[in-house]
Amino acid sequence: MSKKTSRPLKGVTGLVAESEIPYHGVRGIPHIREPGNAVRRKTGNWRIFKPVIDLEKCIRCRQCFIFCPDSAVIWKNHPEIDYWICKGCLVCVRVCPVKAIKSEREQE
Ligand code: SF4
Ligand code: SF4
Repeated sequence: MSKKTSRPLKGVTGLVAESEIPYHGVRGIPHIREPGNAVRRKTGNWRIFKPVIDLEKCIRCRQCFIFCPDSAVIWKNHPEIDYWICKGCLVCVRVCPVKAIKSEREQE
């Protein structure tokens, strides 16, 4: 497999290896340098909106657990969100059949 990127970066002529891209000092821009590393990183601070589960409404259907693309919903006889990992995509809010998950704007 080639180490070259498939397309040049803006302002860069020709192809560059991903490892040559200078990430140090980049702030406020989420980026992933290697596949499958999300579990080792705090990706929760990417969130703008935070899902919050109302366990009184929850019918334990597990849809949020199944559909969360980041496995941020932990199942302990009921759903719990791992806010260290949850990126706030709100897929869980969309799939919940009884609207037991609401989204709240993250505070600073
Ligand atoms: S907001 Fe997205 S990442 Fe977070 S728990 Fe819901 S589905 Fe998973
Ligand atoms: S999708 Fe909604 S009702 Fe189903 S387990 Fe998750 S929070 Fe509960």
